[in-house]
Amino acid sequence: HHHIDHATPEKVKAAIAAGETHAHIPQYQDFADYSSSGGYAKLAELRECGDFETVQETLLASGLRGLGGAGFPSGRKWGFVRAEAGPRYLAVNGDEGEPGTFKDRFYLERYPHVFLEGMLIAAWAVEAERCFIYMRDEYPAVIEILKREIKALEAASKVEPGYIELRRGAGAYICGEESAMIESIEGKRGMPRHRPPFVAQVGIFNRPTLVNNVETLYWVTRVLREGGEILSGVEKNGRKGLRSYSVSGRVQNPGVHLLPAGSTITDIIEAAGGMLDGHTFKAYQPGGPSSGLLPASMHDVPLDFDTLQPHGTFIGSAAVVVLSDHDSAKQAALNMLRFFEDESCGQCTPCRVGCEKAVKLMQADTWDQPLLEELCTAMADASICGLGQAAPNPIRLTMKHFPDEV
Ligand code: SF4
Repeated sequence: HHHIDHATPEKVKAAIAAGETHAHIPQYQDFADYSSSGGYAKLAELRECGDFETVQETLLASGLRGLGGAGFPSGRKWGFVRAEAGPRYLAVNGDEGEPGTFKDRFYLERYPHVFLEGMLIAAWAVEAERCFIYMRDEYPAVIEILKREIKALEAASKVEPGYIELRRGAGAYICGEESAMIESIEGKRGMPRHRPPFVAQVGIFNRPTLVNNVETLYWVTRVLREGGEILSGVEKNGRKGLRSYSVSGRVQNPGVHLLPAGSTITDIIEAAGGMLDGHTFKAYQPGGPSSGLLPASMHDVPLDFDTLQPHGTFIGSAAVVVLSDHDSAKQAALNMLRFFEDESCGQCTPCRVGCEKAVKLMQADTWDQPLLEELCTAMADASICGLGQAAPNPIRLTMKHFPDEV
């Protein structure tokens, strides 16, 4: 999308002429740039004389919530992990596999150290023995940037060599589910665990583990350096804070748009430069395929954590896809279920068999709606993890809002 600094032929030539080996790496703020603008001073101060309760209060007052999709208040999560007996670990979820989501990549390809400082502050807060960064392999530029900048941190003695371990994912969507990610970090097949116990208590190698999303840690640094008002001071439609909406689909300017948390789809389309020429707004995916599709008539709902619950869905990681009159809601829903069928880890029957069965039923000219609804109930009620529990959302919302198509 247009915000990413694409390697144009001119740039590649210039980079090769300059002797750079990685022409595909976009321009970003490196360790020297970041340090010279006050970077890592907050970490040093906290390590020297920081008080956990004060930091926790600042985070809670800012309203910062987990931006991987669950929206749990960050300060509270830190408190839970810290309260468990050590040794404790920290894991960063950088798997960002929800289709349409690319906000973590956006921040990592520009400000990797804002994220890294936030991670080290979180590690300080829970007194983590080690940090694991689980990064999706589909982001080669990000992996290269992190490798370089972790080395720079080690060279500058900000961390012990080996304290931060970079782990590459292997393309499985389910490894973005935190307990499956932990299995994967342990070297096992990535399959979600039953809960309880929660990973805050029994995580990596059975130790209490703090799992935070990349963007959450980016905001930790900004809140502690600039003050919680940068989030809590923004109000819109009764909601507080900011959201990084990953916007794609039939809009003029797809990309990451940082907007007030109470923004509606109308605001988001406007921020993205409006609809493409010749396209009329028809429907939108508010937060990844797990959130299904909402109709254009629901244009005035604030897209934030909690606000979509009454409508049978959620904002998740704020991956907004805009559909137009050129698109079929029925085909989009089928596509979403095909994705879940491919990505189901296969561990439990309602999800493994349910997704496959749903795809078959949804390929019919006319959907057998009562049968699909029964299937949705079984999947939502009996699946182990969020994939199978939320896979019915696109089916149910399409039957509800686009009955003419199905
Ligand atoms: Fe695996 Fe699906 Fe069951 Fe989740 S719901 S554990 S993805 S089979």
